[in-house]
Amino acid sequence: MAREKIIIEDINITLERKNIKNMYLRVLPPNGEVKVSAPLFVSDKDIIDFVRLRKEWIMSKQKLILENKIQSPLKYADGEKHMLWAKEYTLKLVSKNDLKEALVDWENKIIYLPVPSRSKRETREKQLYELYRKELKRAIPPVLEKCVKIVGQRPSEVKVRNMKNWGNCRLQDRRVTLNLKLAKKDPECLEYVMIHELCHLIEFNHGKKFKRLMDIYCPNWKEIKKRLNE
Ligand SMILES: [Zn+2]
Repeated sequence: MAREKIIIEDINITLERKNIKNMYLRVLPPNGEVKVSAPLFVSDKDIIDFVRLRKEWIMSKQKLILENKIQSPLKYADGEKHMLWAKEYTLKLVSKNDLKEALVDWENKIIYLPVPSRSKRETREKQLYELYRKELKRAIPPVLEKCVKIVGQRPSEVKVRNMKNWGNCRLQDRRVTLNLKLAKKDPECLEYVMIHELCHLIEFNHGKKFKRLMDIYCPNWKEIKKRLNE
């Protein structure tokens, strides 16, 4: 069996030639590596054509794999992809001396994270979480007003925290707390969680009555909930 690295149409490929009848192509996690297994008698041109025909499929498969990778343990390393308002951004680590707080280049989809030299993973994560918090605090006021109008209930305040659940509503003082990671999701998810928590000001548990309220105030809540927990 002969193994070689080749590039076809800008795609890095590991090619294996062995005693088989058909050509096979696989895109593998965790990095979207492309492996082609080819029979010994197949020409280079046939292999190139084979890959070329499947280029779009390969790229969509790689994208899926890399998107899943976002959920695996994050390092917050330079070049790593992170979500902000449901769009993918590339992390760029910069010196703390050059930048006071995280900065977003919306056009080029870059998040600049100020970190000390030889920073720890936790430090970098904290910096990104601070950005999420800031983004959420900016996004909340108009969403809150909209949802208060829809549900007819106003919380005493809305807090933003890093927490396990997407949101929480404390009945004693009508305080709503939202997960800062909502800044990773699309804005509709924020609206859905807000409506959900405001509905708790009417109905405490998640029973039939609660679901009926959600159906009225956020008709496509089931679809949004699915997206939120993807
Ligand atoms: Zn709830």
